[in-house]
Formats: sequence, C-alpha cells, structure tokens
Amino acid sequence: MPIDRPTDLDAALASLSDVPSAHLLAGGTDAMVEITFDQRRPEHIVALRRIPELRGYRVDDDELTFGAMLTYTQVERELASTAPGLAMAARTVGSPQIRNTGTIGGNLGTASPAGDTLPWLLALDARVELRSVRGSRELSLADFVTGPKRTAREPDELITAVRVPRVEGPQHVAKLGPRNAMVISVAMAAVIVDTTNRRVRAAFGSVGPRPIRASDAEQQVSDAIDWDALTCPDDAIVHFADACAEASQPISDHRSTADYRRHAVAVLAARSLRRCLAA
Ligand SMILES: Cc1cc2nc3c(=O)[nH]c(=O)nc-3n(C[C@H](O)[C@H](O)[C@H](O)COP(=O)(O)OP(=O)(O)OC[C@H]3O[C@@H](n4cnc5c(N)ncnc54)[C@H](O)[C@@H]3O)c2cc1C
Repeated sequence: MPIDRPTDLDAALASLSDVPSAHLLAGGTDAMVEITFDQRRPEHIVALRRIPELRGYRVDDDELTFGAMLTYTQVERELASTAPGLAMAARTVGSPQIRNTGTIGGNLGTASPAGDTLPWLLALDARVELRSVRGSRELSLADFVTGPKRTAREPDELITAVRVPRVEGPQHVAKLGPRNAMVISVAMAAVIVDTTNRRVRAAFGSVGPRPIRASDAEQQVSDAIDWDALTCPDDAIVHFADACAEASQPISDHRSTADYRRHAVAVLAARSLRRCLAA
C-alpha cells in the first residue's frame, strides 16, 4: 500500500486532496491495532509524523492551542500547570509507550466515546480546526463528534489543532475502570471550576454515544457557589451529582451496566467538584 510521508502541511493537504480515501496515520496507536486485526485495510496512507506545523502547542493570554500531533507525554510534562485537567487525562492514557506516541489529534480522529481527552475538551467548549486544500474551518467539539467513532471531518480534511479558552480556577479529571492503568474507562469526568467566568463546567465520557455535557447541572451548581470563598453547600453538590447522572445516556455493555455507569457519573462528579473546591 502506498504511504506518503509529507514534510509540511501543504504537501499533506495535497496528498489528501489527491486521495481523499487515504488513511491518516498519526501515532498509530488506534490505526495500527485496526490494521493488525484486519478491521481496516487502507489503500493509501498519509503519515503525519514529519509535519512540523502539527506539532507542539501555543499558550496565548486568552487561548490554548494544541497541535494535532501533540503527544500525551508532552501534555503531561509540559502542560501540567497550564492545562491541569488535560494533563490529568493524559496521565490516565494507556502505558508510557502509548503516551509517547499517541496524540490529541488521533484521540479526536477516533472520536471514541471513551476518548480520554474529550470530556475536558468538551467542558471547555473546544474548537477543532480542520484544513484542506479548499481552506480551513473550525467546528465546536460538540458539532465535530457526531456519534460513536463518527466525526464531521470531510475525507480531504486534516485536523490541524484544537483550541480552548484559557480559564483560571481548579480542574479535576477522574477516570473509572476495572483497574488503575491500561484501561478503557467505564466512566470519565472532567470538572472545571472556571473562576474567570464564574461557572462550573462538567463533561463526561463513556456514558453516551459521544461525550456528554451536563449543562443544566452546571448552571444550578454555578448559582449555588460562593465565588469569593469558593465554597458550595453540600446539598448543592449532591444535587449537581444527581443532575450530571441525569444528563448521562449510558448503555449496558461488556464493561458495565448502564445503571452502574449512571451511578459512577454521580460519584465522579461530586468527587471532582469537592476536590476542586478543596484545592
Ligand atoms: C494499548 C492501548 C491503550 C490505549 N489506552 C487509551 C486510553 O487509556 N485512553 C484513550 O483515550 N485512548 C487509549 N488508546 C487509544 C489511542 O491511544 C488514542 O485514541 C490515541 O489518542 C490515538 O492517537 P494516535 O496518534 O495514535 O492516532 P492514530 O492511531 O494514528 O489515528 C487514530 C485515528 O485518528 C485519525 N487521525 C489521526 N490524526 C488525525 C488528524 N490530524 N486529522 C484527522 N484524522 C486524524 C486516523 O486516521 C485514525 O482514524 C489506547 C490504545 C492502545 C493500543
């Protein structure tokens, strides 16, 4: 099978325009599993590793931009104070080998309901930047992920970056699975106490066909928080947890029952919010 190894973004976009059915290869931690198990037989591959424009990240006053080829290891090592929730999520991904090569762009490209970066990105209203030879566009993450492992990406488009607003305040990400490492989550929570905008942000993974935002729960608890003292009455936290569970749309499968997932959302939501407020 032909493999293009472009060394800049324009060359990659040209390759993809010539062969829109080509499979994009970032770190390969999802793609190579599918190819090895014969679940995917790409006729053409465009490898993204040599493209400098997709690497790294940018920290601006009001915005963080993560390049599609940013690895989990880089997030853990270099962004722990700037994007603490994303670093917490990155730390839970796979093994050191997976974190060294797996990328944010690949997590978005796969769009698994269990993708560990997606709840944090969704909670922050992330915008996904897509480029093709036709131009560029941005989609909210909510519009980008259209279903389980389905996205709004056109075949000739590349994810180049994902952006979030820079907000102050504590963040917590919690992942639940049957063991502590190398695990696909049964439920995942990202809670951000955004003191810049005086609002709580909360999103969940593995409890719906795509990451779930708990907007009503966010609104209710944001109204209950004392934003100067950063405290919240306990009954409001319990109410928040119940409203998050209510927003989830879990299914029963070989990893968990829907009831257990719903219960887990409530537990992770309350725990994450309490940790934020105690920080
Ligand atoms: C042992 C193991 C453990 C894992 N553990 C976890 C875990 O704990 N949590 C978790 O979330 N995931 C986990 N994964 C899944 C995987 O590591 C992640 O989804 C990772 O982020 C994929 O990134 P990648 O760079 O390897 O993507 P690839 O495998 O190269 O690509 C994944 C998909 O995204 C597409 N793609 C990649 N880059 C782009 C781009 N720039 N534009 C458009 N499409 C693109 C590809 O075409 C492909 O469809 C695990 C995988 C393995 C094998």
